[in-house]
Amino acid sequence: MKEIGHWINGKMVAGKSGRFAEVYNPATGELQAKVALATPEELNEAIDSAAKAQVAWAATNPQRRARVMMKFGDLINQYMDELAELVAVEHGKTLPDARGDVQRGLEVIEVCMGAPAMLKGEYTGEAGPGIDLYSMRQPLGVVAGITPFNFPAMIPLWKMGPALSAGNAMILKPSERVPSTSLRLAEIAQEAGLPDGVLQVVNGDKETVDGILDHEVVQAVGFVGSTPIAQYIYARAAANGKRAQCFGGAKNHMLIMPDADLDKAADALVGAGFGAAGERCMAISVAVPVGDETADALIEKLIPRIEKLKVGPYTGGDDVDFGPVITKQAQERINGLVESGVEQGAKLVVDGRNLKIQGYENGFFVGPSLFDNVTRDMDIYKQEIFGPVLSTVRAKTYEDALNLVIDNEYGNGTAIFTADGDTARDFASRVNVGMVGINFPIPVPLSYYTFGGWKKSAFGDLNQYGPDAFRFYTKTKTVTARWFSGIKEGAALNFKALD
Ligand code: NAD
Repeated sequence: MKEIGHWINGKMVAGKSGRFAEVYNPATGELQAKVALATPEELNEAIDSAAKAQVAWAATNPQRRARVMMKFGDLINQYMDELAELVAVEHGKTLPDARGDVQRGLEVIEVCMGAPAMLKGEYTGEAGPGIDLYSMRQPLGVVAGITPFNFPAMIPLWKMGPALSAGNAMILKPSERVPSTSLRLAEIAQEAGLPDGVLQVVNGDKETVDGILDHEVVQAVGFVGSTPIAQYIYARAAANGKRAQCFGGAKNHMLIMPDADLDKAADALVGAGFGAAGERCMAISVAVPVGDETADALIEKLIPRIEKLKVGPYTGGDDVDFGPVITKQAQERINGLVESGVEQGAKLVVDGRNLKIQGYENGFFVGPSLFDNVTRDMDIYKQEIFGPVLSTVRAKTYEDALNLVIDNEYGNGTAIFTADGDTARDFASRVNVGMVGINFPIPVPLSYYTFGGWKKSAFGDLNQYGPDAFRFYTKTKTVTARWFSGIKEGAALNFKALD
């Protein structure tokens, strides 16, 4: 059995704890590796040497650090296919989707190539008589990134790019279900010129995370994962005096107005609801058609599109639309939630349970399901299913549909499909959600904007990537300087006795 260790001080090292988590190939259901779970001692060693390495890295001028990002970006492009395969074999997503996972992370590295511009301070000359005022942004020191399973390349890159280019060292604790991509990215960062110790990949579970949260050297924690863990990490990090930005789960709604192009809306819903088996924090999991006529017509358009989706392993060819879910437990939980939807009175229009794929009978596959007549009180509405299940909640009016989104406890992403600019503007202005799409189902902002939800989808301040990330990973120091009048007579050419 392959054993996966850690990346410490520029080398792969074996774990010493004797504790492991299991890494599956979700398509076959086979156990493919064991990943070591770090002991507190291993974590402490990684943090100690990161703290030493950070001093020289912070003193390296910003443009030189940016050049490491340039090379890193180049190499990620060069290794794109290899990285995509690493993502696919542990996560299960299709190869084109895995390439997208790497690509959306790479785009954040591209912005980090311009980090010096993001790190510039402010300056006011003559703020008073002989007084200048200026501020500088300085790195925090050692920071941590704790990432989820669903984007094995993108989210670690979102964390490491801004943190490292700002002059910090990072302890990255990737999801124990998909550890290999982060380890490979660390190796590639070294090839790009990142000094050893500046990026440490420490694999682990709750015990390791708690060690990070309680370690006094760690200054900030950037977390992405489920809402209960995000809230827990935020509270514990804050109690220990650390900065924390913790991004959580989601329940993203898409409104379909009567004037929307229903073919486009149906295509968008199928892509956003079932892509990556619905395991995206920006997946649309709730369709909200306005008016019964819109709802009936939409469902009619969705059914054939959903029924022809091809589910399969990432090796299954170009026509595979999505792959398995991450674990057997996830598969059982999703099927159980579909069952609960039926029991609680929703109409199951397309049933994705009991999908079997020849040759992959033990894979963690779940077929696509579509529900109609879902109501607010049902578990399939209240819970984040994180699987290929699209629920339809019918709304009588635009205001009802808007209020459904406003009342939902999550606020990551949302979308509206309409031909009316006035409705779209009203929706974007009034909805209490962090990322809004107008005729655009998955509005993940480009890397020079920032990413973050509202309500229970994010705890803490400042978004991920873009200018906010540089604020999160730096401290501001403001200097007020006064210079009293000095010698102004100019150069003295004669030898002069000192007074
Ligand atoms: P998760 O919360 O189970 O795990 C995330 C990380 O937290 C992992 O590294 C894991 O090892 C660690 N962890 C798990 N349990 C812990 C505990 N009790 N104490 C301390 N650390 C713990 O999430 P996941 O299943 O890997 O990812 C899926 C979730 O992430 C979904 O809810 C999804 O919506 C969310 N997500 C959110 C965003 C966003 O930006 N808002 C992006 C991607 C995924």
